[in-house]
Amino acid sequence: MRILLQFPEGLKSKALEEQKELEKQGNEVFVSSASCYGACDLAIDEAKKVKADKIIHYGHAPFVGKTEIPVEYKEFHQDIDLELIKKHLGRIKNFTKIGLITTVQYIHQLDEIKQVLEKNHKEIFIGKGPKCFYKGQVLGCDTGAIDEILDKIECVLYIGGGKFHYLTLNYEIPVFIISPNGEFKRVNDEIQQYNKKLQGALLKSSEAKAFGILVSTKIGQFNLQGAEEAKKKLEEKGKSAVILISNEINHIALQNFNLFDAYINTACPRIIEDYERFEKPIININKLEELINFM
Ligand code: SF4
Repeated sequence: MRILLQFPEGLKSKALEEQKELEKQGNEVFVSSASCYGACDLAIDEAKKVKADKIIHYGHAPFVGKTEIPVEYKEFHQDIDLELIKKHLGRIKNFTKIGLITTVQYIHQLDEIKQVLEKNHKEIFIGKGPKCFYKGQVLGCDTGAIDEILDKIECVLYIGGGKFHYLTLNYEIPVFIISPNGEFKRVNDEIQQYNKKLQGALLKSSEAKAFGILVSTKIGQFNLQGAEEAKKKLEEKGKSAVILISNEINHIALQNFNLFDAYINTACPRIIEDYERFEKPIININKLEELINFM
């Protein structure tokens, strides 16, 4: 069998070991070297070019439906020490009804974590986001696992590392994190700061005359229809707007146009975190109506 392997950035160092193992089994193996940030980004074109029979996509759970070339997902799990959960129980002593979420890396322990909390008289709620594969899973573009249970809970408890996932948990109730390195903190202030910056970009965009509308061809991000609707709405407001298509959205390539005052992003909603590098305000398409109202 001809197989194309695809790794997210943090797992690329495993490529050789995986390749050797699959070759030992008699497969012909190719490795995608392109950037990969999520299961929204499957290397279908590369797989077609090398006539692969399947893609093995590491580190993420399924995100898109059926694909032209079959995809096998190999998640990468890490264990979190359950003693950490017990250690920080006192910090959430004033809350009984808790919304629990984590990333795919720790999802295999969600039930165990729930049991630890329940044994300590907590009532645990676990929802499911529309784009997520698992209950209790959070993605940078999907906090539905909390939205679904928000009216039942007193606080959110996120188990996982990094800032990427918790920055979108923009709720009025307390949001706590326990990270695998043992850190516990309340992150509402940090989330608010992040949202203030995004709001600033929205206000600046309202003064723009020429818009670049960004569309990614990545399988789980492609939104041409949204881009066409945005173009129409901006033109109705007397603005000029161009739909810009690429696989990876690259701020340097965009700067070379030297034409746009602001960007509307229809691709991964987290691209806008790099807004300082874009040098122009950039907003996500879900903020378009708000932007139009400001114009
Ligand atoms: S769209 Fe962005 S946040 Fe969502 S899965 Fe893809 S890379 Fe992650």
